[in-house]
Amino acid sequence: MPYYNHHIHSKLPKIGTTIFTTMSNLANDHGAINLSQGFPDFDVDERLKHLAIKYIKKGPHQYAPMQGALSLREAIYEKVNAMYNASYDVENEITITAGATQAIYTAISAIIKENDEVILFTPAYDCYEPAIEICGGKPVFFQLQAPDFAINWEKVKKLISPKTRMIIINSPHNPTGSVLTKKDFIALEKIISDTGIIVLSDEVYEHLVYDDHTPQSVVSYPKLVSSAIAVFSFGKTFHVTGWKLGYVLAPENLMHEFRKVHQFNVFSCNHPFQLAIAEYIKDEENYLKLSAFYNKKRKLFLEMVNASRFKAVPSKGTYFQLLNYEEISSLPDIEMAKKMTIENKLASIPISVFYHAKIDQKFLRFCFAKKDETLKKAGEILTQL
Ligand code: PMP
Ligand code: GLN
Repeated sequence: MPYYNHHIHSKLPKIGTTIFTTMSNLANDHGAINLSQGFPDFDVDERLKHLAIKYIKKGPHQYAPMQGALSLREAIYEKVNAMYNASYDVENEITITAGATQAIYTAISAIIKENDEVILFTPAYDCYEPAIEICGGKPVFFQLQAPDFAINWEKVKKLISPKTRMIIINSPHNPTGSVLTKKDFIALEKIISDTGIIVLSDEVYEHLVYDDHTPQSVVSYPKLVSSAIAVFSFGKTFHVTGWKLGYVLAPENLMHEFRKVHQFNVFSCNHPFQLAIAEYIKDEENYLKLSAFYNKKRKLFLEMVNASRFKAVPSKGTYFQLLNYEEISSLPDIEMAKKMTIENKLASIPISVFYHAKIDQKFLRFCFAKKDETLKKAGEILTQL
């Protein structure tokens, strides 16, 4: 198609195609086992499918309310209350979104103005930084260190300036699999106290925690809750990443600003599927069983890794496992991930892309939300390297 040269000054000059799209495409092109992009390769619960079909047949097929279907907001109220003892107002403090990506983008656009600073922990999930930059905000990076990727809050405190408007936390953490503990939330409470800083808390892997960890949410900390926008995703919780539905919890004043933007960038989300989830979520077993379900897969994957030359510190949360390949190759991680996809037929995600400074510590991220047979095939490849 011929085009006119508009001399566009790109708002995101350094941004290309996401690593998830890049690696999934490469995996497809080369027939590789795809442990790169985070999505399950097993089937969705038949009961959830039946509910979706029920509401497709019966309707509604027209716009959902802007803030989300009432039955779903009510069901979320119950879930959040039961899990975290937090009471969000159904009318004014809960909004259904088109997944967590839209929720995060909307929250950042609603709050961040030119020259506002936002503290980010790197390696960071890829959608935070561009959203900040598009609003003219300035990301301020705190670099997490292997092997535990824990946060030193005293050092974070030193990054806070009069321009700091927001801190973005993500626990369980993608891509490292680390989790924040009660101690972390209490330290965060202290450092933001009386600062007016807003905490954007990405909790899409809330149920996926292992060993002695329990789900921790910003919403259960009374001193944080009044300054927090918490983001969740049904895609992760119910194995339906393609449904693109999630939700946001925030106190009324923050939600009021959130919805000002939400109503113009999506208005409302898929109506019949909201009703299907509203019914499905009422059975708490549907999300409480997730941790045990994924823990089995994590163990199976780690057993195979232990028989290989890859090195792993077991993931504490999410459905991702970082592997260090220093003993196998000195290639940069992006090249290693591409080489393994093309030559060994196993796709993963290189971690340097999640660092602003593109730091390469020879880590690859593998998604274990896969059928056992897929994980076993991947294990065979890992042990041959
Ligand atoms: N945050 C994190 C940490 C993620 O891993 C993802 C990917 N699911 C998202 C947000 C986006 O979630 P969604 O697919 O619901 O947009
Ligand atoms: N959250 C998924 C992951 O980390 C990817 C989602 C996407 O491709 N945008 O792999």
